Order: sequence, then C-alpha cells, then structure tokens
Amino acid sequence: MELVTGLAAMQARARELERNGKRIGLVPTMGYLHQGHLSLVHLLRPHCHQLWLSIFVNPAQFGPSEDLARYPRDLERDLDLCRAAGVDGVLVPRASEVYPADFATWVVPGPAADRYCGAMRPGHFRGVLSIVLRLFMWTRCRCAAFGAKDAQQLWLIRRMVKDFNLEVELMEGPTLREADGLAMSSRNVYLDVEERREALTLHQALEVGKAAVAAGLPLKEALCAMSKHLAVHPKLQLEYLHITDWESLDSLVGVGGDPAWAGSAGDMDEAGREMALLVAARVGRTRLIDNMRVVRGPLAQSPDPATSSTLQG
Ligand code: AMP
Repeated sequence: MELVTGLAAMQARARELERNGKRIGLVPTMGYLHQGHLSLVHLLRPHCHQLWLSIFVNPAQFGPSEDLARYPRDLERDLDLCRAAGVDGVLVPRASEVYPADFATWVVPGPAADRYCGAMRPGHFRGVLSIVLRLFMWTRCRCAAFGAKDAQQLWLIRRMVKDFNLEVELMEGPTLREADGLAMSSRNVYLDVEERREALTLHQALEVGKAAVAAGLPLKEALCAMSKHLAVHPKLQLEYLHITDWESLDSLVGVGGDPAWAGSAGDMDEAGREMALLVAARVGRTRLIDNMRVVRGPLAQSPDPATSSTLQG
C-alpha cells in the first residue's frame, strides 16, 4: 500500500495511474477509522482499479469553539486497517500544504448549506466542499464514496458535482451502526458510559419517528413523539429535528437548525413519498448526528367530526 503526504507527489502519481488507464476511486475521511469508513472502501472497490483513501482532519470545517484539537487521531492504526481492507493508497496531506499562509480560494455552497448542520456550524460546509473538491483534483478520482450518515453533506457534494459538471461518480453507503443501533462515528470515543446510553436515544427517537410516519400519523405528531423521546434525557441537548423530503432535504416539519427552513417543502405529505428524519444533538460535550430514510404510509384518517358526534350522541 502506498502512503503519500505531498500534494505534488499525489498529483504526479494520479497522472501516472491515469496514463496507465487506471480508474481511481477515493474515500475521503478524517481518519480514526471504523467499520463505517471501511464499508465505503468495500462499496467502491468494484468500481475502480485503484482505491485510495484520504485522511485529513480539515481545520476549515471546524468552528473556533469546536473539537479540532482533540479530534481523535491514530495514523498507524488507520494504516493497518487500510492495508487489511485492500486499500491501494492513502493520502495524508499536511495542513501546512493544504492551507499555506496565503491560501484564499473557497467553494461557497448555496443557501441549502445554511440549514440543519450548517445553521449550527457556520462555514462548515464551505470547508467541506472546498476540501472535497481539492481531494478530487489531487487524486484525479473518477468515483468516490460517502456515507448516508452525513446526509446534508452528501446532498451538498452531489449539488457541487452537478453544478461544476465534475466527472466523479458518487456512491452512497448506508449508515453502519453498533449492535444496539448507535450510528458509528469517530466521535463516539468521547462518550462515557452514561453518555453512550443517552446517545442511543437518537437512534431510538428515529425509530419512533419512522413508525409514526409509516403509520400515517400527522407529521407534527410524529415530530412531537420523537422530541418527547429525546426530552427525557438530561445530558442530551437537541440541536435540530426535522422530517424532510428525501430528495430535496427540504423540511416538512421540524425544530431548530434555522427554523426559517421548517416547512420549506410545503405540502408534500402524501403516501408513498420518501422522507428523511434528521437529528442532531449534544450529549455532554459531544455533538452527534443521525438520520433515517422512511416511506410515508397511507395517511391515517382523522375522525370525521360529524360522524363522531353522531356516534357519541
Ligand atoms: P468522517 O471521517 O467522519 O469525515 O467520515 C468520512 C466518510 O465516512 C463520510 O462520507 C461519512 O459519511 C462516512 N461515515 C461516517 N460514519 C459512517 C457510518 N456510521 N456509516 C457509514 N459511513 C459513515
């Protein structure tokens, strides 16, 4: 397995591979790898000749009071996991080269980056898109895999690929979870035993919401059932909770994450529609996100007042 840290070296190697007719696939990560990352490696493997994984804790996507300094890192362990997974090459760029002192050019996402996580983390997606575009360019990848766990991030990357006509095929991997349902995340390592228990309620709340949406309950009631489930946990502080259209991620109903977007999907509540449940919360000092795809079930009939009064009368 190759290990490259210099950007010029990466570009030269990618050019060479391309000249030799190799299709390069990329899995961008911030390292401290877990099975969720490795599932993206396996997803992408059949679609490329050369599979590369990048490890870069991107300072530009962290706010000033966020966890950049303490973000977990273990390069040796990551490299072992990559070797075992059959990765061909790992790019670990140096921050000083990615962001030299005079660096000045950014990808500015559209307003869809200002809602949900973007509302809680101003500038986050500008940082994400800027590094993802540059990783695509350095590695000359023709396909790349991202996790559905970061639903808004994936939506914005799709948008960028479309808007810039990038010749990169995007693959979406499902969210990998621990046996009890907690979405795998490098940040789970921050959680103590009690926080770990509380973190699980995110997934449980999504299951509650999924059942309610599939049963055709009014979406406000489904939202209410989810937020009630989250509210009883003292260490858990909800950031946002939305039921959205799956394709557009426009909100059908929700709270937090720039409430101006709540209800932006308008009247799209119909049986068979694919929806997403999006949640973000802090558990102690740790920020966690999760989401779930759900198909709207046949709408439950609200009792006809005339009929019910006749019955009662
Ligand atoms: P990160 O290292 O957190 O930036 O994540 C790198 C990639 O792995 C992103 O495309 C994430 O969406 C994806 N990813 C993170 N956690 C999971 C998970 N539990 N299941 C599947 N993919 C994931």
